[in-house]
Amino acid sequence: MPPGMTTSELKRKAKAVHEKLLKAYGEPTWTRLDGISELVATILSQNTNDGNRDLAYARLRARFPTWEAVRDAPAEAVIDAIRPAGLANQKGPRIQHALRRITEERGQLNIDFLADLPLDEARQWLLNINGIGPKTASIVLLFCYDKPAFPVDTHVHRVTGRLGLRDPKMNADQTHTLMEQICPPGAHFAMHLNLIRLGREVCRARTPDCSRCPLQRECDYYRALRKAA
Ligand code: SF4
Repeated sequence: MPPGMTTSELKRKAKAVHEKLLKAYGEPTWTRLDGISELVATILSQNTNDGNRDLAYARLRARFPTWEAVRDAPAEAVIDAIRPAGLANQKGPRIQHALRRITEERGQLNIDFLADLPLDEARQWLLNINGIGPKTASIVLLFCYDKPAFPVDTHVHRVTGRLGLRDPKMNADQTHTLMEQICPPGAHFAMHLNLIRLGREVCRARTPDCSRCPLQRECDYYRALRKAA
């Protein structure tokens, strides 16, 4: 919680941020994948950009006809296929381990049962698999099963910090929990994607372009800049 702000005040601020982003960017769209495919794509996306992730994902799909084939393949073959994503020696075994654990637990490579679980239970099930952290779990639950999770990547973490939607000392995992609570109901998907877009295009890490930002009135960082000037 940012110092001096109540949960109600934060919720109001989050609502204003969401509405202004919607006005600026509209409702974002996303190609929905099944849960297993999203899980693999998200593991591939760790510490790399979308282009490298997409290339690695496409190579993996081209080399193996099914996720079962990826699961049962020699580790080196998977590592080689996903090399463009970087950290392939870690991500390959992580993907295969997750696929094997899911098969052990469910008897098949399908996690659609998560749709019927409450958010916290579904998240805990995913977190029990080694190599799946809070961000990966939130992405799968939000994007595949419409759960009100709020994934926090580097852009969301930076932008929420500058806006003053979270305490400056909060890490990404703590920010997941807070954003889930303060995001307007039903807005998790749009607000998550629109904050990422703002972070990429306007509120960049080194050079935020505040002059063309739709969130000036909501932003603590901008207010401090103005005051200092
Ligand atoms: S006003 Fe500036 S610092 Fe604040 S969110 Fe916009 S770009 Fe980022």
